Amino acid sequence: RDSCVSDSSDSVISSGSDTEGQIYKVVLLGDHGVGKSSLARIFGGVEDGHDCEEAGNTYDRSIIVDDEEASIVLYDVWEQVYQDNSQWLKDQCMKMGDAYIIVYSVTDKASFEKASELRIQLRRARQSENIPIILVGNKSDLVRSREVSVDEGRACAVVFDCKFIETSASLHHNVRDLFEGIVRQIRLRKDSKED
Ligand code: GDP
Ligand code: MG
Repeated sequence: RDSCVSDSSDSVISSGSDTEGQIYKVVLLGDHGVGKSSLARIFGGVEDGHDCEEAGNTYDRSIIVDDEEASIVLYDVWEQVYQDNSQWLKDQCMKMGDAYIIVYSVTDKASFEKASELRIQLRRARQSENIPIILVGNKSDLVRSREVSVDEGRACAVVFDCKFIETSASLHHNVRDLFEGIVRQIRLRKDSKED
């Protein structure tokens, strides 16, 4: 599993030109408390109900998208960057992903602004690459405490040239769509590079 830490010259295309059995590395980014771990646990099929406060987890799963299997390792390790204030880990996270899920909470404007910041940092770290990114507005179930509208989220995604979806980890709403979407994005970019 440590092979996930690839060197910086390793681009999506060089790792993507393997045969089948390709494993996609997907990294969750986003402010504290926005629901990264909740989304990751749903993806991983961990239905434990309570919130575990572990700083770093990875989830390994294959999902069928458009009749084709995709193996994904989902990294929920971003919290550790904040906890340890580790520049090294931060750089690793920015480098290793084949795709990124940037999460904010629709009930937390500051987390929305943080998402933009992360998008910019990611662009800086992976300048020449066209990495698939999905911007996720989570906690869409909390209607009354909403601070970020769907339109604001969508507009932000347009500016940042990425996909957008609102989810509710609590209701499991759109969570499957999110992970299927990321697989499709990875495939799309891979195909267009191989032309
Ligand atoms: P992380 O810090 O980004 O990993 O966030 P967590 O997954 O630990 O979630 C932080 C808190 O928000 C927890 O209490 C979750 O139960 C709650 N939470 C996460 N997703 C949702 C959601 O979609 N709706 C609601 N209402 N609460 C959520
Ligand atoms: Mg977490």
